Amino acid sequence: MPAPLALVIGAGLAGAAAASALARQGWQVQVLDTAPAPAAGASSLPAGLMAPHLSADDGLLSRLTRAGLQATRTELERLSAQGRLRPGEDWLASGALEHRIRHTRPPALPEPSADASRPALAGELAKAGLPADALGIWHPQAAWVRPGALVRAWLAEQGVRFKGATRVERLVRVEPDSGEAGPGWQAQDDSGGVVAQASLVVVAAALGSAELTQGKLRLQPVRGQVTWGLHDAADALPPFPVNGSGHLLTRLPLDEGLAWLSGSSYGHGERDTEIRQEDHAANLARIRALLPTAAETLAPAFASGTRTGEGAGSVRAWTGVRCASTDRRPLVGMLAPGLWALTAMGSRGLTFSALCAALLAARVGGQAQPLPADLAAALDLARQR
Ligand SMILES: Cc1cc2nc3c(=O)[nH]c(=O)nc-3n(C[C@H](O)[C@H](O)[C@H](O)COP(=O)(O)OP(=O)(O)OC[C@H]3O[C@@H](n4cnc5c(N)ncnc54)[C@H](O)[C@@H]3O)c2cc1C
Repeated sequence: MPAPLALVIGAGLAGAAAASALARQGWQVQVLDTAPAPAAGASSLPAGLMAPHLSADDGLLSRLTRAGLQATRTELERLSAQGRLRPGEDWLASGALEHRIRHTRPPALPEPSADASRPALAGELAKAGLPADALGIWHPQAAWVRPGALVRAWLAEQGVRFKGATRVERLVRVEPDSGEAGPGWQAQDDSGGVVAQASLVVVAAALGSAELTQGKLRLQPVRGQVTWGLHDAADALPPFPVNGSGHLLTRLPLDEGLAWLSGSSYGHGERDTEIRQEDHAANLARIRALLPTAAETLAPAFASGTRTGEGAGSVRAWTGVRCASTDRRPLVGMLAPGLWALTAMGSRGLTFSALCAALLAARVGGQAQPLPADLAAALDLARQR
């Protein structure tokens, strides 16, 4: 019997993770995207950080981010072992230092283990140019990742096909042909032409998901800008990512050369992608609060303005629009028989895509959930109803 066909709409982190997880369950998966190439939306971010969230009570979000981080790390290692990702080029298990500038008390920390977040050592603080009494936490599981590389690696899964330049205008429920189980869904273009049809559709189209599901999902745009630049002072910056309020990634092998990257600005309710000088200024202010010594090193590049050409000595920008739910947690689940959604990755697409995809694939396949029931419920889109 031929493998059942699933459609995934959206080829960013969410859609690619879903496609890969379903293909590994035996589905033939067709991934459709308006853009000609994968990772064209928020997932075109040059590089991002994934690190656990900490809180005083080790609450839901903290436990979710730990589970998410573990799921993504497992995928990064699997894809690297298969030669689909290059550690050091596409991602790095760098760890990260969190400078808790907004806090006066240490957070709840998980049980001690080699992988668990722990108070930073004096040597780690010193490498970041921070004083020994700074409140710092070292996250061994943290990593930087180039989202586009991860998307392409997931789409290279056997059984996944990508079709670009294909905007889905609407999804229409259709009755099954005789002998087929369950109803199906047609993906139609703007003139009502059938783009594809399948018994399982996963909507992973970020903000576009709201229209495709006829307003069943409440989603909000959050514009953001990162500032980055090529290095002429790699040794003057910390040798690992630092986060806290925003983050600074210091040794990224981008296509243009060795780079640093800082961010990000937050424009709630905004969806334009114009480069803004005030967002660069806000990103520099973030670095100043997080890492005063690094800010001294990078300030001249900010002062010399934005440049799109070659060479170090000035800053560049990447802007994108996050898709967030009203409570900032991802939305995963079934909207109607055969119609599923996986979206609202917010600021944590790298942390949450693999975990949400594993949850979706387990539910579609009727298997045990890959995380405790309270965490699965916290991701379920049923909470929006
Ligand atoms: C400034 C900034 C910094 C960030 N930094 C980090 C970070 O450090 N770490 C981190 O984990 N995350 C970060 N993020 C968030 C991360 O980029 C997102 O969470 C993630 O990329 C979202 O993935 P996605 O697949 O849901 O959406 P997208 O990547 O936007 O993909 C959605 C896709 O759906 C397609 N689509 C939409 N409508 C249709 C349609 N009707 N038909 C066909 N296709 C359609 C689009 O073309 C698009 O390709 C950052 C985001 C921003 C903006």
